[in-house]
Amino acid sequence: MKSLKVIAALLLLSTMSQAQDNTLKSHAEATNYEETSRYDDVLRFFDELQKRSPLVRVETFGHSVEGRALPLVILSDPPISEPRDARASGKPIVFVFSNIHAGEVEGKEAMQHMARRIVLGDMRSLLDKLIILIAPIYNADGNEKINVMNRTAQNGPLGGVGVRENAKGLDLNRDYMKLESPEAQSLVRLFNRWDPHLTVDLHTTNGSYHGYHLTYSIPLNPTVDPRIIAYHREKMMPAIAKAMLAQHKFRTYYYANFDGEAPKPGAPYKGR
Ligand SMILES: [Zn+2]
Repeated sequence: MKSLKVIAALLLLSTMSQAQDNTLKSHAEATNYEETSRYDDVLRFFDELQKRSPLVRVETFGHSVEGRALPLVILSDPPISEPRDARASGKPIVFVFSNIHAGEVEGKEAMQHMARRIVLGDMRSLLDKLIILIAPIYNADGNEKINVMNRTAQNGPLGGVGVRENAKGLDLNRDYMKLESPEAQSLVRLFNRWDPHLTVDLHTTNGSYHGYHLTYSIPLNPTVDPRIIAYHREKMMPAIAKAMLAQHKFRTYYYANFDGEAPKPGAPYKGR
């Protein structure tokens, strides 16, 4: 009888832990942020999210040098799979991609958590207004070269991060003109196919001194239509910065890249 009670208690415990485990977690969450997600972890997360919500569709927008399929996650209500459906909805199409530099892992993790909040949580109302596309692990090959010796100046994760370049040693963030990498070719095909209204490219900074934990940059190419630059500078980013402060008590400001040493008091920063 005593052992039956123990078994019952164990069963209850295991049911409880199963209920807790039912929460879909990223690999970062599952490891208490000591490790970042591998490619397979990212695919598993979004496949599971797709099973749990009809508002998620996972497809492939291209392949890496080493042949990894590059996932594109489409979040939409009602669900869509084709750009023409996105256009027909009349909603702005927002495209977010992360991990172009695979040592910069925060965006890859954040987009898993954010997608979960959008389809299963408190950010669900975003899909009343937007079509959201996410490419969570753009430099997939670079990600898989996780090593504790990469980006050692960066504070964590303990398990190490990937490398900046793709498997051919190309920086994908410098391949928008020659399009030598299959990844950049795939991304441009995605742009042409979906023609997003807004694109957000997520990075992590180390080695630059900033007064802010979160910074942003608007388009810097002088050939961009000045009306678009003016919209970013005068309307969109001030509104976002204001909302971040009001709603999250979080100050954000323009990204700038400075030489490594902090200036002496009173001396100006030297830009580069
Ligand atoms: Zn970067």
